[in-house]
Amino acid sequence: LSDKKMKTFEEIESAVRSYSRGWPTVFEKAKGYKMWDTDGNEYIDFFAGAGTLNYGHNDDTMQEKMIEYIKNDGIIHSLDMGTTPRKEFLERYKEIILEPRDLDYKIMFPGPTGTNTVESALKIARKVTGRDTVISFTNAFHGMTIGSLSVTGNSFKRHGAGVPLHHSVSMPFDDYVDGQNSIAYLERFLEDSGSGVALPAAIILETVQGEGGINAASMEWLKEIENICRRWDILLIVDDVQAGNGRTGTYFSFEPAGIKPDVVCLSKSIGGVGLPMAITLIKPEYDQWGPGEHNGTFRGNNLAFITATEALKRWETNDFSKEIQEKAQFLSDSIKEIINKYPELNGEARGRGLMQGIAIEKEDLANEICAEAFNRGLIVETSGPSDEVVKFLPPLIIDKEGLAKGLKILEESIKAAIS
Ligand code: PMP
Repeated sequence: LSDKKMKTFEEIESAVRSYSRGWPTVFEKAKGYKMWDTDGNEYIDFFAGAGTLNYGHNDDTMQEKMIEYIKNDGIIHSLDMGTTPRKEFLERYKEIILEPRDLDYKIMFPGPTGTNTVESALKIARKVTGRDTVISFTNAFHGMTIGSLSVTGNSFKRHGAGVPLHHSVSMPFDDYVDGQNSIAYLERFLEDSGSGVALPAAIILETVQGEGGINAASMEWLKEIENICRRWDILLIVDDVQAGNGRTGTYFSFEPAGIKPDVVCLSKSIGGVGLPMAITLIKPEYDQWGPGEHNGTFRGNNLAFITATEALKRWETNDFSKEIQEKAQFLSDSIKEIINKYPELNGEARGRGLMQGIAIEKEDLANEICAEAFNRGLIVETSGPSDEVVKFLPPLIIDKEGLAKGLKILEESIKAAIS
């Protein structure tokens, strides 16, 4: 941590008010896109649990369904056993999400977190191909365990593993080096037997890198990556843990590219109301697990199945998607306006859907803006390898008024931070 951050951390810890470095208070309540602390201060949430609260805090119907289920002695924990909430989730997921998109996947419950789904994806790719290398990308984030960290392109986080991580090769993400075609680079490595890059089991990517700084891949790049996978018989894993569940404007972030990944990782907002849940979607021909080859205690959170099924109802028509896209346009227009209004910020607008950000070169300025925003009642977080991007992930159910209010606070915070 930088000296400045360390100081804030120590101040918070000694004040014994919170364990959070970024938001030095104790939160008590939340509804929709708003949160309140124990002092009664109201905050607009542009963080949404890093993309876990796409449907907002404490959705009324999700809350009611959970209460009703508990009151009726519904089964809370059941490992991977068949239960009514699990059955209903599986049926509705196929009906509402997969079939209308002409997608055929087996649905696996790999464990409760995003990291669990990534681990299962890496494992199955290695098992079905018999190859051990996986290609990932610069600035990628896929998790903190040994496997998922080995495909995470962040040297600081990798350092936490203590010793080098194996079985992965990092390639430049779309637009990593301005004007250079990263696809040609990747293909050259695969073609050249002397390159030292072995034929990989899989390529894993985020269509929009969340933790890595809101880097959005172009649709052309995604299509070309899929072509490479098909040509070389490599599995394509899309990690939609953060960008999925509607975050970019469509249910899956890869839909506009028209690609069909072999494996898709989903977590965060899949549980609807913030309960831990993850699924791994695997093309039927690659579902080659033997019984008990990938298990774990917490794979069947029935309360999460209930709220997850409720969340799926938003996707029964195209209305939610359209709504998100309209709000996304409003957000990106507003961000561009702010950037133009404050040239000293030297900001760059990034992202897609309601997953956007402002990249700011000046050291620590993004963090200062977030701190100013918190003091004014807006929760925003930074991302990127040097915390250089102010990242906006409001709940997808936010209305324009909420967005406008948050953006007003953002603008005031920028003014304060640059003055
Ligand atoms: N993949 C992506 C793209 C993520 O953004 C994250 C979490 N930020 C993960 C995987 C890991 O998820 P979790 O923290 O639930 O293990």
